[in-house]
Amino acid sequence: MRLANLGGHPVLVDGDRAADIAVASENRFPADPMALLERWDELTDWAGSGLKRDAYDIPVDPDALGAPVPRPRQVFAVALNYPPHAAEAGFTPPDDPLVFTKFPTCITGPRTTVELPAGKVDWEVELVAVVGRHTHHVSEDRAWESVAGLTIGQDISERVVQAAGKPAQFSLGKSFPGFGPTGPVLVTPDEFADPDDLEIAGILNGDVVQQDRTKSMIFPVPELIARLSAIVPLLPGDVIFTGTPAGVGNRMNPPRYLTEGDELVSRISGIGEIRQHFRGPTG
Ligand code: ZN
Repeated sequence: MRLANLGGHPVLVDGDRAADIAVASENRFPADPMALLERWDELTDWAGSGLKRDAYDIPVDPDALGAPVPRPRQVFAVALNYPPHAAEAGFTPPDDPLVFTKFPTCITGPRTTVELPAGKVDWEVELVAVVGRHTHHVSEDRAWESVAGLTIGQDISERVVQAAGKPAQFSLGKSFPGFGPTGPVLVTPDEFADPDDLEIAGILNGDVVQQDRTKSMIFPVPELIARLSAIVPLLPGDVIFTGTPAGVGNRMNPPRYLTEGDELVSRISGIGEIRQHFRGPTG
């Protein structure tokens, strides 16, 4: 199942056509993406029983897509989860996940223009896992059952604010408006041959700057879910940014940061791509 937020309405997507879930279900399901996530099991049962072809009566306008999860209650993000990225950042791979948050107001949809704040704004393409059920103390081997689906995210990061303070606290520098674009669709784990092994790439102005496979992660999705849920109850619609591969701008020589006019494309096999343009800084 491929789910999207089209103009604020949850839809099922098939190719370039969409079915409005509230309409196709005759209002059995809510027209709000967050309320829908509370009923994920029921939704997958209903969608799995087969939707009539003519329910897919809306053309998908990529520019009208919003965040698949527009108002998550909790947003987790993981630092240094790919060995080459840990190495380029000057660290040995961590023994435990390094977890911070992107405050939820930064979450946006897949095609946006981001206003650059002052400072050094960098890119981080990431696989994003979305929680589909209340989860506390789940084991690693059952953790995929807690995942509604996977989507693409950019953990856009302003490195000056991120690194300020001793010790530094990452969250604010990664939470400027528009710093958490996600989408274009939420894809259920069963849609992938192997949801633990997806090709992930970041492309800046046509040049591939980041490329890896998600199987390279030090803490794969199930381990992250198990470890997070050992401490914090995970809630439907919670979002987990799972870390970025090597190739971020501040580790280039010389460093390269986002500037006005840049186009950043983030791609994951089996999901699609999101696309950001950058403007500013103003003032
Ligand atoms: Zn990140």
